[in-house]
Amino acid sequence: MTKLIGLYPGTFDPITLGHVDIIERAVKLVDELVIGVAINRDKAPLFSLEERVEMVETEMARVSKNAGVPIKVIPFETLLMKFAEDVKANIIVRGLRAVSDFEYEFQMVGMNQVLNDEIETVFLMADARYQSIASRLVKEIARLGGDIDAFTPAHAAERLYAKFSKA
Ligand code: ADP
Repeated sequence: MTKLIGLYPGTFDPITLGHVDIIERAVKLVDELVIGVAINRDKAPLFSLEERVEMVETEMARVSKNAGVPIKVIPFETLLMKFAEDVKANIIVRGLRAVSDFEYEFQMVGMNQVLNDEIETVFLMADARYQSIASRLVKEIARLGGDIDAFTPAHAAERLYAKFSKA
């Protein structure tokens, strides 16, 4: 049987408990998961690519061990479908939050299907507790001195606090 390789792409600026919840669900569906950390210069990320990769990797050691599924964290700058082909992914995993995510994802899937119709995109929803979490809001709360421990893994929260105490 063909090995099912999933690709979960994102900016992860920084990784949140919403991302972690989606990853914990995704590993139930695949034999191997690749987490693609996008350089995403357009979004002007707060954390460097190296910092984002490191934060995802720190969290993934535990998730991978618990699930017994290998997880690779790989940065990418190319077109998503090209990257998916490079890592031999059969499916792309995306998380869906509110209606606001739908419009963007709908267009992306439509265009990606034209680029490569062999790779399916699947959408997962996080547990209700994590559905409202967005990296953008987590950064905003941390910047304004709020408590973000309920939204990100502990080490990512520390990184955020450090970033803004230095600023
Ligand atoms: P991108 O720039 O690709 O949107 P993100 O890091 O913001 O990168 O998100 C990566 C993926 O994770 C997207 O599919 C996004 O919808 C999903 N996601 C982010 N936060 C949550 C959450 N709280 N619940 C479910 N899915 C989420």
